[in-house]
Amino acid sequence: MSISSSLYQRLAEHLAKREADGARRRLTLPPAGLVDFSSNDYLGLSHHPVVQQALLAAGGAAGSTGSRLLTGNSAAAEQLETQLARFHRAEAALLFNSGYAANLGFFAAVPRRGDTILYDEASHASVKDGIRGSFATAWSFRHNDVADVERKLARATGAVFVAVESLYSMDGDMAPLVELAALCRARGLHLVVDEAHTNGLYGPQGEGLVTALGLENDVFARVLTFGKALGSQGAAVVGATLLRDYLLNFSRPFIYTTALAPHSVATLAAAYEVLPNLSAEREQLFRLSDYLKARLNAAPGLRVPPESHVIHPVFFTEAAGPARVREVAAAAQAAGFDVRPIVAPTVPAGTERLRLILHSYNTEAEIDGLAAALGHITGEE
Ligand code: PMP
Repeated sequence: MSISSSLYQRLAEHLAKREADGARRRLTLPPAGLVDFSSNDYLGLSHHPVVQQALLAAGGAAGSTGSRLLTGNSAAAEQLETQLARFHRAEAALLFNSGYAANLGFFAAVPRRGDTILYDEASHASVKDGIRGSFATAWSFRHNDVADVERKLARATGAVFVAVESLYSMDGDMAPLVELAALCRARGLHLVVDEAHTNGLYGPQGEGLVTALGLENDVFARVLTFGKALGSQGAAVVGATLLRDYLLNFSRPFIYTTALAPHSVATLAAAYEVLPNLSAEREQLFRLSDYLKARLNAAPGLRVPPESHVIHPVFFTEAAGPARVREVAAAAQAAGFDVRPIVAPTVPAGTERLRLILHSYNTEAEIDGLAAALGHITGEE
């Protein structure tokens, strides 16, 4: 009893510290009826009629009833993996239940003791958690700094992995993939690219940034997630057939979990059928991205980095702490726009920002309205 009460006290103290830092997380229900500047449904695929039809037609069991290695495997899951490998121009693909599980599953299983992982300091938590689960030596390098990768290489041992995201989720900027691929090719390093935010959006058919740049043969593994532009859930690691077979044998987040539900597999197969036909939506998304940057940068007190795409951080020229960023987000929501604050520890303290996510279904009028509302909110101190 006393042990548990002191434990509860410790938990409460941690929460109180978060509260005092203005960083306490709370669940909120997605606000109804607001203009969507926050979801990851970049192309609106979660509601696409063909995907909806596949969902309704899926029928059968509600769950997969087991792990892939036991009763959870299906012809549909294997067909989806074949479809994924072909579409993304890789030898093979292996499904995971989420991008989080895929990153964990790759990094905790493939790099071994004596190997080295060099990862961008802005890497997603799932990459960092995967690295923590591996016995390899790991060093972060400065965000998007190829020279820093080269410097750190001097001390690297064993197989060397370089982990990046094609497009970073908090800043919307891109990894210098062409330079990194050249370095990895020249030095025999293994490039691992998380394509969470580029899958479906880049490339002639939405194959992702690696394929758009013609780098698929220079990348050891790609993590493709399906909870964003694909409008569903789950993820895949794509790469060599040997890598797939290794992960299937050694990757614990693949082995010890119930496989994706049949309706998820069915909606994903449908979403991938639709994806090549969404060029107009992709173009609209990039047009809107340029429009948003121009409009918000013209508003006094706001700064959106020019290198951001699809995902746009909005910084205030007046230094704004977490409380102020939350306040502005709440005011933007009250004005009808679903805009979220991003605060530490998700981003480094002192870099709190709003994050605007664009979709092919947003309009210039919505962006005008948002720019006017934000200008009004931040202008009235
Ligand atoms: N990688 C990146 C870069 C992400 O942004 C996310 C999701 N926020 C993930 C991985 C995790 O993907 P999932 O949501 O499918 O677990």
